[in-house]
Amino acid sequence: MTERSRIGLPFVVAAPSGTGKTTVCRACVQRDPRLEFSISHTTRAPREGERSGIDYNFVSPAEFRSMVEAAAFLEHASYGGENYGTSIEALRIPMEDRGHDVLLEIEVQGAAQLRDRRRDARFIFLLPPSMKVLEQRLRGRGTDSADAIDRRLGVADRELEAIRFFDYAVVNDELERTISAVLEIISAEREGSQAAVEAARARHARESVHTAWLSGGGARRD
Ligand code: 5GP
Repeated sequence: MTERSRIGLPFVVAAPSGTGKTTVCRACVQRDPRLEFSISHTTRAPREGERSGIDYNFVSPAEFRSMVEAAAFLEHASYGGENYGTSIEALRIPMEDRGHDVLLEIEVQGAAQLRDRRRDARFIFLLPPSMKVLEQRLRGRGTDSADAIDRRLGVADRELEAIRFFDYAVVNDELERTISAVLEIISAEREGSQAAVEAARARHARESVHTAWLSGGGARRD
C-alpha cells in the first residue's frame, strides 16, 4: 500500500494527572515522522507559549457549544471547569489525507467515548511508578495548596479506574523507556502483522502490566 492510500490509526493515550503524559506524547510525535498529534479544541485560555492551531484550537464557550450542536466532535468532556474535544476533522485530515497515525492525548471520559465510537482506535494507559510517587511529585512542586493536591489525587484515583478498558499499559518510571515502549506499540499496530502485535501485547498488555504494578504496591500511598 502506498503511504497516501493508507488510512492511519488513532492512538489514545491517557493517564492519571501528574504522570507525565504530555512529555511522553510530545517526544513520540517528534521522533516518529508518521505520527501526528491530534489538535483538540478547548475553551481554556492559552498558557504562555501555546499557539492556537498548534497546541490547541482555542475557542470561546459559544463556539464550542455550536460545534457540539453541529455534531462536529468525536468526543468531548469537561475537565477542571473547561471544555475539551476532539473534532472529527482533527483525525480525518492526518489519517485520511496524509495516511498518518494520530496520537490523542486526552482525559479518560473522552477516551471512554472513543472506545464506543472508533473501532480502529488503540488505547494506551500510562501509569505513574506508584501513587505514592505521584503524590510526592505533586507536593514537591509546591505550586498547589494542600486542598488542591487532595482534589488532584482524588481525580487521579478516578482516572486510574479507567485502565480497565485500555489495550496497553506502560509504567512511566523512566522517560526514555516509556517513550520507546509507546513507539514500539505504535509501530507494531501500524505494521499490523499478527506476530508484531502479539509481541507488543506480550510486553505491554494492560492486564499483566497492571497486575504487576498492583502487586508491586503501585496503588498504595503509605
Ligand atoms: P490541559 O488543560 O492541561 O492542557 O489539559 C487538561 C486535560 O484535558 C488533560 O488531561 C488533557 O489530556 C485533556 N484533553 C486535552 N485535549 C482533550 C480532548 O480533546 N478531549 C478530552 N476528552 N480531553 C482532552
